[in-house]
Amino acid sequence: MPSPGGRGSGMPDVLVAGGCGFIGSHLVRRLLQRSDLARLVVVDNLWTGREGNLSDIADERLEIRVSDAETFSDSSKFDEILHLASPASPAWYMADPIRTIRANVLGGLNLLQLLKPGGRFCFTSTSEVYGDPLVSPQPEHYRGSVDCTGPRSSYDEGKRCVESMLFESRRVSGTNIRVARLFNVFGPYTRADDGRAISNFLNQALTTGVLTVYGDGLQTRSWGYVDDIVDALERYFWLDAIDYPGPLNIGNDREVSVLEVAEYICSIVPGCRIEFAAPVPQDPTNRRPDLSLARSVLPGWIARTGYEEGVTLTLEWFQTQRGQSLQDPLLKRPGTAALVGQDARAT
Ligand code: UDP
Repeated sequence: MPSPGGRGSGMPDVLVAGGCGFIGSHLVRRLLQRSDLARLVVVDNLWTGREGNLSDIADERLEIRVSDAETFSDSSKFDEILHLASPASPAWYMADPIRTIRANVLGGLNLLQLLKPGGRFCFTSTSEVYGDPLVSPQPEHYRGSVDCTGPRSSYDEGKRCVESMLFESRRVSGTNIRVARLFNVFGPYTRADDGRAISNFLNQALTTGVLTVYGDGLQTRSWGYVDDIVDALERYFWLDAIDYPGPLNIGNDREVSVLEVAEYICSIVPGCRIEFAAPVPQDPTNRRPDLSLARSVLPGWIARTGYEEGVTLTLEWFQTQRGQSLQDPLLKRPGTAALVGQDARAT
């Protein structure tokens, strides 16, 4: 991947806020492949991120600083800043909504002060800005169907506020910004207790064997495998040739119901079954990105990994994390042997 230049002075210093998190840690690995990088500072308060996500990296350019994004300071400023400092799982952001707002909004304001003049500020926003969408697929110009006082509002409005701050900073001061709106992302380096659908289902499959589908499971999402999503972010955030501040939808535009994903996991992990649980309040009924703009801004990029392949890769990763053998791991689950062969599925 070509490296950006044009920031004027030599090798860039880069800061990634949230770099120990799920997507952040993937981006850090990609950044360290850049030969032009002088220094890579990761700022993470380890709320949802884990230092272990980066612990296998030996690179003297990498510096991990345990700090909130909103209070982080440094003696020098940065050529490129990537703001990913926020929980993204509803279970986590709903557990501490004020802290979520603080991480996004105060974090964003503080980090902006650390940008060198002429530097680039990149932000991972979210499809949550579309709320429970009334149009499908959702193009970037769709303004959303949102509830600014609802249970998801800390995350949704936190992200919207940072978008606003960045676009106003660009308008008033000419700040160089790139705003990506990520649809659902899954894959390796997710926490086992993250709580989002695919990681939850896989960890349930590997432990209790009971997959909890909230509501009737007919709500849909567009499931983006992390490698595809990070491919897009790498191009969008790195490349100087791109002259588009955003917002830019990034995701996989194949729309699949939650129930279908759970059923698929049951079909590849013997002995699993589905249990339906109470619906989540204000759970969006559908989500699918319109990727027309992404195709023109990021020529050649495509989310090529189907959820089936992505789920398999993620399952293998979780198995490795749990120390299970890839050949016959499921028999290590208590009670699995008794379940194999039974038609235990509740669908
Ligand atoms: N979901 C589910 N069971 C789980 C976790 C999530 O049925 O164990 C559902 C959730 O209600 C939502 C969808 O899966 O409809 C995606 O949820 P997730 O938390 O992954 O992300 P969201 O798109 O809601 O932010």
